Amino acid sequence: MRLDKLLANMGYGSRKDVKGLLKKKQVTVNDSLAKDGSMKVDPEKDTVKVSNDVVEYKKYIYIMMNKPPGYISATEDIREKTVVDLLTPEIQHYNPFPVGRLDKDTEGLLLLTNDGQLAHQLLSPKKDVYKTYYAKIQGNVTEEDIQTFKQGISLEDGYMTKPAILNIIKSDSVSEVEIKITEGKFHQVKRMFKAVNKEVVYLKRLGMGELVLDPSLSLGKYRELSKDELSYCQ
Ligand code: URA
Repeated sequence: MRLDKLLANMGYGSRKDVKGLLKKKQVTVNDSLAKDGSMKVDPEKDTVKVSNDVVEYKKYIYIMMNKPPGYISATEDIREKTVVDLLTPEIQHYNPFPVGRLDKDTEGLLLLTNDGQLAHQLLSPKKDVYKTYYAKIQGNVTEEDIQTFKQGISLEDGYMTKPAILNIIKSDSVSEVEIKITEGKFHQVKRMFKAVNKEVVYLKRLGMGELVLDPSLSLGKYRELSKDELSYCQ
């Protein structure tokens, strides 16, 4: 990997900023002065220092975001704002992508990473990872709905859902529920309620497996996963 790319990726500014650091003789590779940004380095083996501080190389990044409504779960789009647009350029350097999709109007826990293997672990239908959602539903949610969701429900295209766990927080003209599903079909929660003639009017993902949305993250905010949180996902 080029030295200037490594330093830019690790948050030392643009390639132009990195050029400035090299010019000011602040960069060493294995304790020899580095002058040329095009120099090839092996980030896993070579010791790169800036102003005598070792540059810690990170290959992967893992971000927990509280997705706000109005953003699509994609890396880029010509018309719409994407969740990646919310990240700083330093983090965008890692080329993170969202792990699974939340609808444009859905809020809550979204994981972004450049680690394809971890994404696969969390999304693979074989792993049966529970995704937990809080939802507001137009209409009274009933005990019968709990049983229907538990048994699996036939969606409008004939797809039979796997058992889902529905908890009623409040049953009213607008009900509040918590729902756990292991699948991630397109608009799944909304389509499941539609199949029992009800409409989801608000949807927020609270958790994926053991990973829980940090309540201190307001909408649009994000942070890196802690080591413990990362271990839940692996
Ligand atoms: N189910 C939905 O209907 N929408 C989402 O965004 C996530 C799950």
